Amino acid sequence: MNIRHANHTIYVGAGSNMANRLDNLRKAIELLNQLPRTSVKKTSAVYHSEPLGFSAQEWFYNAVFELRSELNPETCLVQCKRIECLMGRPADHKKWGPRIIDLDILLYDNRTCNEEHLTIPHPELSNRRFVLLPILDLANPVHPVLGQTMRELLETCPDTSSIERTGHTLLTVT
Ligand code: ADP
Ligand code: MG
Repeated sequence: MNIRHANHTIYVGAGSNMANRLDNLRKAIELLNQLPRTSVKKTSAVYHSEPLGFSAQEWFYNAVFELRSELNPETCLVQCKRIECLMGRPADHKKWGPRIIDLDILLYDNRTCNEEHLTIPHPELSNRRFVLLPILDLANPVHPVLGQTMRELLETCPDTSSIERTGHTLLTVT
């Protein structure tokens, strides 16, 4: 493989349940597009979903973005965190609590990563309909660990929380 020109397909899950949730998703796309040697190729529909874990908070807007990028997984995580921070998410935010933006690396080619601070595929991928449904707007990749497609995982997904597709579209700036 030619490392210098390695172009990777990365699926990033985005969620927001504070302030203007749609604007937040759009801003995240704009900032991801500004990363070096990275572009957001496709965006899913926008989904309106019930919060998991701690229910006394606003519902989420969720979407998945398909990126083409030369960033390695580590750098991609650092950049996602930087964008979260730039958009005003405090570094000491509560797990499961409200967030202006959450960016998770769901899939990175068909690679796996098991570092303390980075697990790819995202460990909750197969348990969350608000991730599986938007990925399926874009493609039906095989989960590299479970060996099942996203559609197959959706069929057996234990998540029973509410989710519906909104009429909003996300415009990508390339
Ligand atoms: P959550 O997304 O679970 O609500 P955070 O966004 O704060 O919470 O993520 C907590 C930690 O999860 C991050 O600091 C990051 O190091 C780690 N992490 C592990 N795997 C991933 C991944 N695939 N994508 C994003 N973060 C990840
Ligand atoms: Mg996260």
